[in-house]
Amino acid sequence: MSTRRKLPPGRIIAATHNPGKVKELGALLADIGFVPVSAGELGLPEPDETADTFQGNAELKALAAALASGEPALADDSGLACDGLSGAPGIYSARWAGPDKDFGAAMQKIEEALKAETTDDGEVDKRASFTCVLSIAWPDGHVQSFEGVVRGQLVFPPRGDRGFGYDPIFVPEGETETFGEMDPDRKHAMSHRAIAFDKLKAFLSA
Ligand code: IMP
Repeated sequence: MSTRRKLPPGRIIAATHNPGKVKELGALLADIGFVPVSAGELGLPEPDETADTFQGNAELKALAAALASGEPALADDSGLACDGLSGAPGIYSARWAGPDKDFGAAMQKIEEALKAETTDDGEVDKRASFTCVLSIAWPDGHVQSFEGVVRGQLVFPPRGDRGFGYDPIFVPEGETETFGEMDPDRKHAMSHRAIAFDKLKAFLSA
């Protein structure tokens, strides 16, 4: 995979059935002339996320939508990986919150799992990272992916109510506030999603 593809501005299939994600994509891509149309709107099937990496899942979602629609499609996958838990919850980040999307319970589950890994010296490894992978797939099976990673430290109890998901337990490197306490503009300027989007936009506008 070395040939560089071009993608003319205009409509792009957003491989998601989540209207919130399509709206967010629309806002992020508007200034470079891309208008996302959701896979849900087009009645395209939603594939199971069966890969074992963020990139694998982003690519299989993008490919499924591109093959079904016959047009280039964009997908994302993201989550929190804790060093002290061998990368968990990772690709299962949303699933750890259960069907009720209870992230309070999911954050508690992380705290308890880390406690269970405490060393004999009383050390707990609180390093973690947020990752976001954005993938574009073409109907001929070509795929291009862009990754953003932010390293940080976990804090307990959770702090702040400004973000979503695991934001209240994550302090990015070099910061003192959690993503949940931080001004949203500040988070959006440094987040894993922002890094991946910057790479994607550089590609799309090249
Ligand atoms: P998906 O990418 O929609 O499959 O969801 C990934 C899951 O990872 C989300 O439900 C959140 O739990 C978590 N996650 C991803 N990015 C963030 C973030 O920026 N803050 C907090 N949690 C996140």
